[in-house]
Amino acid sequence: MSEKELRLNDLKQECINCHKCVLGNTRNNTVFSDGSCDAKIMLIGEAPGADEDATGTPFVGRAGKLLTKLMEETGLSRENDIYITNTVKCRPPENRVPSDEEKKLCENFLLKQIEIVKPKVIVLCGATSAKSFLGGKIKITRIRGKWYKLFGNIDATVILHPSFLLRKHSEEEGSERWLTKQDLLKIKEFISKV
Ligand code: SF4
Repeated sequence: MSEKELRLNDLKQECINCHKCVLGNTRNNTVFSDGSCDAKIMLIGEAPGADEDATGTPFVGRAGKLLTKLMEETGLSRENDIYITNTVKCRPPENRVPSDEEKKLCENFLLKQIEIVKPKVIVLCGATSAKSFLGGKIKITRIRGKWYKLFGNIDATVILHPSFLLRKHSEEEGSERWLTKQDLLKIKEFISKV
């Protein structure tokens, strides 16, 4: 096991035992991460849903399957190219948006994941994740595909959330799914150069 894997395993164990916020009282499983710790891309979603809470793995429900499909269609391997996590590691009841306090209390896990994985690009997945890091009033359809600097000097970009895409079936040029594939292609191109 690599040094990175060892450090992440220790952090995961700490996360499994965490009850710093109220979400720890209602979860079935903490949802720490999926994918490769050697990936250049770190995808950060908002919070686990029911399927993720049941399995302990992020993005495994219908939305997660769609995200995986779009990645594969653009030549990105979910297993090797991406490290996936969320802003909070436990499911908020009724899938509500995690509170600022919950995000703050959970932030240390995410910051340590970033420090250990050292991604070349951070992908904020969906409006809630984008708002957490970019702040202010944002309109996801306006900021998707734009690039930012986060956590010091890490390149970051925003994609539409796959649960939003589940309600948008068209894959025609200009559609939300088509735009997301263009965003993923740009991310793929970016990591090929760093
Ligand atoms: S959401 Fe984060 S801070 Fe809250 S209990 Fe779970 S791991 Fe701990």
